[in-house]
Amino acid sequence: MRKLLFLSPLVLALALGACDDTKKPAAPGSTGGEVKTPAASPEPGPPTPDDQPSDGGAEQPSSEPIPPAPGPPAQPASPPPASPATFNHDAPGVIPAGQGHGYLDRTVWSPNMCWPLQDDAFANSQVYGHGGGMGPAGTSQCDAANYSLPWHDTFCEARSRDNPLCAGGGTGHQGQDIRPAACKKNQYWAVAAEKGVITDIGSYTVTLTASAAPHRVYRYLHMQMAALAVHEGDTVVAGQKLGKVSNDFGGTPTTIHLHFELRAGVAGVTTDGKPVVLHTFLPPYMSLAEAYQRKLNGGTCS
Ligand SMILES: [Zn+2]
Repeated sequence: MRKLLFLSPLVLALALGACDDTKKPAAPGSTGGEVKTPAASPEPGPPTPDDQPSDGGAEQPSSEPIPPAPGPPAQPASPPPASPATFNHDAPGVIPAGQGHGYLDRTVWSPNMCWPLQDDAFANSQVYGHGGGMGPAGTSQCDAANYSLPWHDTFCEARSRDNPLCAGGGTGHQGQDIRPAACKKNQYWAVAAEKGVITDIGSYTVTLTASAAPHRVYRYLHMQMAALAVHEGDTVVAGQKLGKVSNDFGGTPTTIHLHFELRAGVAGVTTDGKPVVLHTFLPPYMSLAEAYQRKLNGGTCS
């Protein structure tokens, strides 16, 4: 699988005619219990009425307790205004020791995408940061430390979800976690990264499949699902409002953040010689960083 990522974007583009957005990660089967367990199989089962929980392990490391529902901000963060001159981020693939093995990939897999939020934001770990289930004891998710630069890559952070790019058994965080401009839920809009179609809405997931080749698939998690601005089947333009960043996570809330995924197909061949398109998670970190820098520089999105 890893070798496939060294294929050129042209090959990727040619291979993407048969993107299958129905191939969601398998549900771990937990419905609000205290422990998340790894998915039994990467094969998707029959669709369930509400896609529950299609990303259940994405926000928790394996066999770790779910953090308590976040209460009112104990120490409301007042981050300084973002500036194109001061924005900075850690290098891709940098994950602290004991928190997984980062995936070093400087590829900007979606070079022209829109910044998927209307406002400023802070990319960092929800699980290992302040207020996270594995974070410093007694801390709040609203701690100013979570609302500060630099950004940190969280792709392949230790989680229970299937991700063949991650070392150590092929499990890890499937996307990038992003805190909104301030520690407030249901206030900041997430927007479409590209023009496309809303191909799926789950219990806490919204999937956008881009109209243009290579038909990248973006998945947004933890928005305020009861007040989405889109419906399944809608066509959206780049930058269009989808929903507000929240902490929805099926029955159990997570921290206030947007989990953002980028998937695309890569061409492969089966053992009996048949071409196949493998749909895989790709590191979105550098695409996000570049999109954010464009926004800070005053660029528009269309
Ligand atoms: Zn996440």
